[in-house]
Amino acid sequence: MKYWEKLQNSLTKKIIACPVCHKKIRIPIKVGKTLEINCPFCRSVFQISFRSSMHELLKWDKNLTFISNIFAMGRRFTKIPSYIQITLYLGLILLLLYFLN
Ligand SMILES: [Zn+2]
Repeated sequence: MKYWEKLQNSLTKKIIACPVCHKKIRIPIKVGKTLEINCPFCRSVFQISFRSSMHELLKWDKNLTFISNIFAMGRRFTKIPSYIQITLYLGLILLLLYFLN
């Protein structure tokens, strides 16, 4: 699979396990929405809701100190796939280059 295809798939599709038969299903991500999933294997129907992973990654807890928030963000950052990390790094570098010019 090509890099961009993989990245796009990871951002728009998610693989979940059916709660009844535990088979893996690929579903489209609809951030902030609740989807009704019809399992293609066992025909059971279940609901799934999404939260934005980027929002989740960058969330800021006002009850924590600045440093604690940075560390918490770093811990969440290491859990995401490496090709997304690379993309974020590249974006950050481009942003820095833009502002330094
Ligand atoms: Zn199923």
